[in-house]
Amino acid sequence: MGMCLSKGKRLVGTGETNGYSYEEPPSQPQQPSTQGHHQQQPSPPPALRVVDPNAVLGKPYEDVRSFYTLGKELGRGQFGVTYLCTDKKTGMQYACKSISKRKLVSKSDQEDIQREIQIMQHLTGQANIVEFKGAYEDNNAVYLVMELCAGGELFDQIIAKGHYSERAAANICRAIMNVVNICQFMGVMHRDLKPENFLLATKDEGAMLKATDFGLSVFIEEGRVYRQIVGSAYYIAPEVLRRNYGKEVDIWNAGVMLYILLSGVPPFWADTERGIFDAILQGEIDFESPPWPSISNSAKDLVKKMLTQDPKKRITSAQVLQHPWLREGGEASDKPIDSAVLSRMKQFRAMNKLKKMALKVIAENLSEEEIKGLKQMFSNMDTDNSGTITYEELKTGLARLGSKLSEAEIKQLMDAADVDGNGSIDYIEFITATMHRHRLERDEHLHSAFQYFDKDNSGFITRDELETAMIEHGMGDIDAIKEIISEVDKDNDGRINYEEFCSMMTSGTQQPKKLI
Ligand code: ADP
Repeated sequence: MGMCLSKGKRLVGTGETNGYSYEEPPSQPQQPSTQGHHQQQPSPPPALRVVDPNAVLGKPYEDVRSFYTLGKELGRGQFGVTYLCTDKKTGMQYACKSISKRKLVSKSDQEDIQREIQIMQHLTGQANIVEFKGAYEDNNAVYLVMELCAGGELFDQIIAKGHYSERAAANICRAIMNVVNICQFMGVMHRDLKPENFLLATKDEGAMLKATDFGLSVFIEEGRVYRQIVGSAYYIAPEVLRRNYGKEVDIWNAGVMLYILLSGVPPFWADTERGIFDAILQGEIDFESPPWPSISNSAKDLVKKMLTQDPKKRITSAQVLQHPWLREGGEASDKPIDSAVLSRMKQFRAMNKLKKMALKVIAENLSEEEIKGLKQMFSNMDTDNSGTITYEELKTGLARLGSKLSEAEIKQLMDAADVDGNGSIDYIEFITATMHRHRLERDEHLHSAFQYFDKDNSGFITRDELETAMIEHGMGDIDAIKEIISEVDKDNDGRINYEEFCSMMTSGTQQPKKLI
């Protein structure tokens, strides 16, 4: 059978607002009160360079070429060109997406790029999501450096193969659903899942699939009604066309992809955009034409459940991952996927106290851009808007993220995150316990954290300085200080130098074997 696919054009480009698109603000503003916090904190060292008033990233320009050599063109998108690039220090290869500032005309275009960066920073570190390295800017463009996906687009693979075996389709669908699941765990609605937005990490058979494009993604705000029509025609969910939707749209998008993976054609198809929309709203799915008669009932059952018109009745991402067809034959395990927040909290729990304090110092100095996602997550968990998360709120929040922890386990995570021991987790404590560890790789963060402890600028953190800091953070305890010094002070001179400090901060944190 012939392939009827063509690359779906984006209906509403990032930032473009058409005559109909508007979104309602959340019914209740749920911003955590961070102002007071930040004002009490030591201010970061003054920037050496000035911020250009036209800066999209809102920080001084940093030349991507001083860190990376830009190489051949990998591909072209709506806003710019993606290049191969090489880290000058390590020789490692990455992809660098340049976004021409001439194309970012309106304020909302700029906000879209800022949001894309925030979301990539928020989701980075997850298996099926492209690793984010950093954002740079000069007079002409914004540059996003990310993991190189050398295997090319999933789309091209589908075209090349026509269609897949059920088994291969299930494996791909599982990877796509992992992305949907992680996005939902992390409070993000993708809104533009389609084969073009998935790349293969390498050219090898069975290479890892990576979601790369978060240009239309948004942070899910509780209570908000989304109305903006975005997406690509074939993949658009009916409730998007009805302009009242939420996170269930990602399941629909994945369902359309699964239908294509199995048959090679989109389920809702016509010559015109209008015709495609009519077909979507009608919702009739063809399971009669070849190859459907030879496809298993179980596969069809899953497609039907994912393409259910009513978003409330549609299968959830956790249910999709547990569906017998998706699990069947493949290596999909029954193990529930940990949310990133949960695994980060578990890691945090295993850290020594100095590392926790240092992370807190770093968390206090992170930019808005770096913590937007966690900030949203904090306000979603802080349901009574008190500025702190109680045990009950953490329990409900984690359950909503799909975790199945016991009371005792949640209590332990709570105690670990509650650095000052006052019984609830405040905003900075939450960021500290859940921020992504790649922040630590940044030398300037490590350096300012070290300086925070080394009050007299001697180049060493002494026992007295450590004690002062621990008392300040409500964890002064002579035994703990002894333990930290003996653990970190590799050269046994009774104090911690910068090198020892860095090696403690960047050494892999062992996951505790068992939580209890
Ligand atoms: P879009 O307008 O769809 O957002 P992008 O700028 O994201 O386009 O990507 C354009 C093309 O660049 C992609 O189709 C892909 O071929 C290539 N590309 C993007 N990101 C990467 C990456 N991380 N590794 C390799 N190639 C990439």
